[in-house]
Amino acid sequence: MSWQDDAGRDLVRSFGPRMEMFVRGEGAYLWDADGRRYLDFLAGIAVNSLGHAHPVFVEAIAAQAATLAHVSNYFATPPQLELAARLKRIAGTGESGRVYFGNSGAEANEAAFKLARLHGGVERPRILALTDAFHGRTMGTLALTGKPYMQEPFLPMTPGVEFIDSTIEALEAALDDRVAALFVEPIKGEAGVIDLPDGYLRAARALTAEHGALLIIDEIQTGAGRTGEWFAFQHAGITPDAITVAKGIGGGFPIGALITFGAASELFYPGTHGSTFGGNALGTAVSSAVLGEIEDEGLVQNSADRGRQLRAAIAAIDSPLIDGCRGQGLLIGIALRLPVAKAIVSAAQEHGLIVNAPNDETIRLVPALNVGDVEIDEFIALFTASLRTVQDALVLDVDAEGVTA
Ligand SMILES: *Cc1c(COP(=O)(O)O)cnc(C)c1O
Repeated sequence: MSWQDDAGRDLVRSFGPRMEMFVRGEGAYLWDADGRRYLDFLAGIAVNSLGHAHPVFVEAIAAQAATLAHVSNYFATPPQLELAARLKRIAGTGESGRVYFGNSGAEANEAAFKLARLHGGVERPRILALTDAFHGRTMGTLALTGKPYMQEPFLPMTPGVEFIDSTIEALEAALDDRVAALFVEPIKGEAGVIDLPDGYLRAARALTAEHGALLIIDEIQTGAGRTGEWFAFQHAGITPDAITVAKGIGGGFPIGALITFGAASELFYPGTHGSTFGGNALGTAVSSAVLGEIEDEGLVQNSADRGRQLRAAIAAIDSPLIDGCRGQGLLIGIALRLPVAKAIVSAAQEHGLIVNAPNDETIRLVPALNVGDVEIDEFIALFTASLRTVQDALVLDVDAEGVTA
């Protein structure tokens, strides 16, 4: 029996077949069971901020597990309070901010959804979200995720959510005094690393403020330094009412959080929300250590600088398939001229490189934030070879059909 057989028999079929089985990781590299090494430019989908098995991550887990892992939310622990204060500081909430802890992105967005309802009450039943944005797979967050093919098998959805195009005109047309909240994904990662139009977040802030609606920004993929600021909204110089974070803040440990600003911090009151595991001492200690390492090593700036370096290197690749880059910092979508992204992902795996295709015409790169020259040079060599493999196969197909020559 192979691992593929075991996976096919025992794992839920909500995911497609697993592409590979990995047994070990170190830094930017993964190893399969045959000892073959892969350069990992997916980093567990923007999760492994420090790469694999980073000593800071490993030691934080070991030390906290040996001290105190979990006591429930009847009690406080030092790591929980330290992480809450750290998140408030890097998000720039000031004194009045508050933090709710969960264990995933979806849980952070569930909390944000409830925040929106608490703010809206019966007077404001409308919640706006962007078409093609991704907010999670639970029933509440699926209602916020404007993808009919994802929602359809699970109808009816939680009511009240309306989807609008990601344009300032659509915002102006949709906002009124019956809107409780606008949810925004500042760069749509799962949709294919799609940027918002220039000035969108500033317009969203002005219009939601004018109508008394909350502006809630989903920073689950864009946060923790990924775009070259701690959080993507900080590029726009605005103050939202709430942000949600997960993925990169744990560096591989499952944790998520809702961070509120100003008056939105007073909406939850005892009994309105909770989680047994949320904010446990182990997860919060690890997240603090990961964010501390990102801060101490200047990795937010590294994300901006290495992002620029990678984009320049990708622009210099001589391939008819590449149509440029989207995204910001180390959240990079390579736009393709043909729908061959899945073929490129497979070819890359053959060449020992892990990347991903959020759609048929985009390759997503979200390497660890401490990526350096060696990994970038190796990425360019492996990616160029992968493109060539796909280009050669395309020419053969065309020849076989007698289209050319
Ligand atoms: C990954 C992601 C989520 C969902 O997070 P999970 O931890 O998978 O529940 C929500 N929003 C965005 C923008 C994401 O990238």
